[in-house]
Amino acid sequence: MTTSIIGFPRIGEHRELKFATEKYFRKEISAEELQATAKELRAKHWRLAQERGVDQIPSNDFSLYDTFLDTAVLFNIVPEQVQAIDLSELDKYFALARGYQGDKGDVRALPMKKWFNTNYHYIVPKFEAGTQVKLAGHKLFDEFQEAKDLGIHTRPVLVGPFTLLRLAEYAEGVNPVQFIEPLVAAYKEVFRRLADLGATDIQLDEPALVKDISELELTLFDKLYQGLLADKAGLSVLLQTYFGDVRDVYSHLVQLPVEAIGLDFLEGRKTLDLVKEHGFPADKVLYAGVVNGKNIWRNDYAKTLALLEEIPAQNVVLSTSCSLLHVPFTTANEEFAPEILSHFAFAAEKLDELRELDAIRAGQGDEFLAANKALFAAERTVRNAELATQLAGLDDAAFTRQPALAERAMAQHQAFNLPVLPTTTIGSFPQTREVKVNRATFRRGEKTEAEYTAFIEAEIDEWIKWQEEIGLDVLVHGEFERNDMVEYFGENLSGYLFSKNGWVQSYGTRGVKPPIIWGDVKRERPITVKWSAYAQAQSDLPVKGMLTGPVTILNWSFPREDITIKESTLQIALAIREEVLDLEAAGIHIIQIDEAALREKLPLRKSDWYSEYLDWAIPAFRLVHSGVAPTTQIHTHMCYSEFTDIIPAIEQLDADVISFEASRSNLHILDELERQNFQLQVGPGVYDIHSPRVPSVEEIEHTIRAILAKVPTERVWINPDCGLKTRGIPETKASLVNLTQATRNIREEL
Ligand code: GLN
Ligand code: ZN
Repeated sequence: MTTSIIGFPRIGEHRELKFATEKYFRKEISAEELQATAKELRAKHWRLAQERGVDQIPSNDFSLYDTFLDTAVLFNIVPEQVQAIDLSELDKYFALARGYQGDKGDVRALPMKKWFNTNYHYIVPKFEAGTQVKLAGHKLFDEFQEAKDLGIHTRPVLVGPFTLLRLAEYAEGVNPVQFIEPLVAAYKEVFRRLADLGATDIQLDEPALVKDISELELTLFDKLYQGLLADKAGLSVLLQTYFGDVRDVYSHLVQLPVEAIGLDFLEGRKTLDLVKEHGFPADKVLYAGVVNGKNIWRNDYAKTLALLEEIPAQNVVLSTSCSLLHVPFTTANEEFAPEILSHFAFAAEKLDELRELDAIRAGQGDEFLAANKALFAAERTVRNAELATQLAGLDDAAFTRQPALAERAMAQHQAFNLPVLPTTTIGSFPQTREVKVNRATFRRGEKTEAEYTAFIEAEIDEWIKWQEEIGLDVLVHGEFERNDMVEYFGENLSGYLFSKNGWVQSYGTRGVKPPIIWGDVKRERPITVKWSAYAQAQSDLPVKGMLTGPVTILNWSFPREDITIKESTLQIALAIREEVLDLEAAGIHIIQIDEAALREKLPLRKSDWYSEYLDWAIPAFRLVHSGVAPTTQIHTHMCYSEFTDIIPAIEQLDADVISFEASRSNLHILDELERQNFQLQVGPGVYDIHSPRVPSVEEIEHTIRAILAKVPTERVWINPDCGLKTRGIPETKASLVNLTQATRNIREEL
């Protein structure tokens, strides 16, 4: 048996790529300097994989921005506007990723989307009528050669044609079928060129095969691969899937003339059954994804070995469940106590796991197995028995808010007496340098608690006063105490750990550092009550309490594997519920519970949406707010409007008001809400906060009129798309002044 990986993080152990690229964007270093850093990183990562004993090392998994974009560029799927612009090849590439505005022209960035159910974003290429698919790039070949020059024989990786066509966008009147022929030809040319360079293998990543596949898509897939595999130029082809199982196409895959198939045995709940039921051909190699590429816990060797025993395939290569892109680089730079650290495996440590598992299989790794067994035998954390009892004792009533929505709406209407079309914001105000410095110096102990508090209170005072002045109806405190909407809560909950360097690429040069759920989660102390109560004391208008919901907290953390995600989420929900009740007791009567990441973790297959996810995600949210009085108003917020297909689920959250991003999506969502007779009050964002542009009063009036054409006036709130923390103060103030003015104008028309 041998070992392989699907891909490795590219940002670098110390995020060298991020820093170099950002310097290049700021024109502080040259293109050559950026390329030199990139080259160094590639060499380092290949060598690391080699030293740690990976037998089959990929190349072209590296990217200066995104490998999906790299594939589009390789095949010339580049808008004419960018082709024509007088920029270097590198700058054209970055223009596609981030847009370009300068003396050479003005082009918009291609859109970005979440990569399957991960927090990674890929750049979405667009096929247009004029798109000429052909082999146009050379990065794939260069990187193979680069490794070869270092004496490392790699397996080049490329997004496969099915996933490429499936995840791209199409201009009006253009469809995937038109591109089958040129695309197949271009892939074949890639095969030939690679073979000429001395390559022996290629890995085609086809994660789109784990989604629901229609008949039409299956035909597309068959056509692509029939064409493609007719002449492989002597290369061994590894068809690699991940993020789930391939139940809709398994029987097709095993009949293809490919040499190897990569399957995910962790997220692919049915993978083992598929292989057992249908068998795996003796003439192919099975790349078994058994080391988790998405989570940071040590592999349980005994369990993995038992799984491997069950796989009825003759040739098995040990691999990761997906690219290691989704985990941080190494645990070597962390400062956790050894007894904690020993439970973690980041990307570099997962390479060790593959080698050790392989050794054990070969009968040469008894000491590894013994050490691993000891690690898993010891009690890692002490379970909170009281919490378990509390969770077990929850009955229907704990998940049901009383009275029903319509009755609450009446009670709240009387209690708040808000004007028609109430105005509000989503929570955060700009995080200026001073706001960040205040937190950082306090954290380092260079500021007393009193000084820290005084600073935040002064910010709150100023912004409360300003919100009153411009005439907002429901105020916010501004979130000046928070760095991040998940980390902030994690820091105040037991059971959470925070890494020092656990960065994971989110898109391009942006990274996230997800906190780790280590043990049972319990609220240690009131978290937000102090700030919200202070803010409410400064105004006669309602000030919204501001919380992150349990599903989002869980989705943006590394979850435990020793208990179910459902149980972890319910623990978090109980903690946030305590916070809700404390806020209410402190006189906060409008509470917003953000669920920015609810949609993101929706299972890839529709049939799993409820059974695998919503069936516990919805109750978790309901548990958080079911204990409040009828006159306490619960808001929730989603940073996107793509919930057309889960509108009933959103309604089941049973909040009173929902705000969401809408300005960029032409309010299309409103048609659907109307059609499905959505009963909640809604605040569709009336302007885009992702851009510094200030919307005019007329523009906002226009948007409000469009909303009122679809939603009964008494159910409409007026607010921006999302929080304002990444914006500057001038545009924030100008935009909100226009928002309140536009609302007043419309109210007069009513
Ligand atoms: N209340 C948060 C804020 O305003 C919401 C952020 C989000 O939805 N991503 O910053
Ligand atoms: Zn948002």
